[in-house]
Amino acid sequence: MKFEFATAPRIVFGPGSLGEVGQIAQDLGRRALVVTGRDAGRADRLMASLKEREIAVVNFSVFREPEIATIEQAVTLARSRQCDLVVSIGGGSALDSGKAVAAMLANEGKLIDYLEVVGSGKPLTKPSLPFIAIPTTAGTGSEVTRNAVLASAEHRVKVSLRSTFMLPKVALVDPELTYDLPPALTASTGMDALTQLIEPYVCSRANPMVDALCLEGIRLAAQALPIAFDIPSNVAAREDMAVASLFGGMALANAGLGAVHGFAGPIGGMFPAPHGAICAALLPYVMEVNLRALRQRAPGHEALARYDKVARVLTGNPDAEAANGVEFVSALIADLKIPPLGKYGLTHEHTTELVQRAAKASSMKANPVALTTDELSEVLDRAL
Ligand SMILES: [Zn+2]
Repeated sequence: MKFEFATAPRIVFGPGSLGEVGQIAQDLGRRALVVTGRDAGRADRLMASLKEREIAVVNFSVFREPEIATIEQAVTLARSRQCDLVVSIGGGSALDSGKAVAAMLANEGKLIDYLEVVGSGKPLTKPSLPFIAIPTTAGTGSEVTRNAVLASAEHRVKVSLRSTFMLPKVALVDPELTYDLPPALTASTGMDALTQLIEPYVCSRANPMVDALCLEGIRLAAQALPIAFDIPSNVAAREDMAVASLFGGMALANAGLGAVHGFAGPIGGMFPAPHGAICAALLPYVMEVNLRALRQRAPGHEALARYDKVARVLTGNPDAEAANGVEFVSALIADLKIPPLGKYGLTHEHTTELVQRAAKASSMKANPVALTTDELSEVLDRAL
């Protein structure tokens, strides 16, 4: 056994913890670039808490998944105002933007040079500026991951800036920030969290630390997600989903993902679909095709027993088998009213291109079994 585990050096979790951000930030810097999502007003309490501790703030808003040019703009702004700290509050886009900006403020050269797939994938050489990540959705786990997903409009693909240096200095998870998430967003982000707990658990790079987080996270998400969707004000369900999301981020950053995320990058780059909704639509089919491929080509593979375990944790039934897990996920997606991928404009005509792109994705390499072109096509066709 050989593994490594790294996460944010400080994780602050709890309802109302947003009020502590000024106190936390004062040890890290004096001038903060505050990266927010569409609704900058959501950051009012954050700004007040920083100003209370005499930390100067410069605001930068991102309106959708960040493009390379968006990050460059934010870096220029932060340099011109001599920011020495970056704080992000928002969903995955705001968090990933801040993470990329904090990295580029400390490293010389152009962002493109450091990007995988579309750039030269040069490694970052210096630790990021101090970065505080404050999620307002429960899904991406970006507050504890070491990559930022950026869109390249030119290449119609999503790519990652990735480095251990990019782990946020502080992950501040305040479940209160998710209380007013609308049901559709609760559903898609929550399914991203569940996918990011199942894929690392069965992946080819699983390890015992990640296993523990995944099993507890899957248990929490399976119970809490339908409740948070039906009763948005249910505080306990929101809290459990915030924990599940955090654990999912820690899991994917320290193990790997699989075919669902292998597809999610290329699909997200070509179609305007929420990342979590893409993952949800693919998840049951990837589970089913993985199980069949494992039974055919590697009948003694450990991942088969892991899929049984996932089914038991999802259903709460100690006798459940892998197929029951697939049924559970399919029923959950129906309950959460997540549409199939055809809703976003995907058709059978896109299968060949998407399968080619997905096969090259870094997440695909951690899938428990290498899937054939026919198997990947089947997954996509069934998810339409
Ligand atoms: Zn994801």
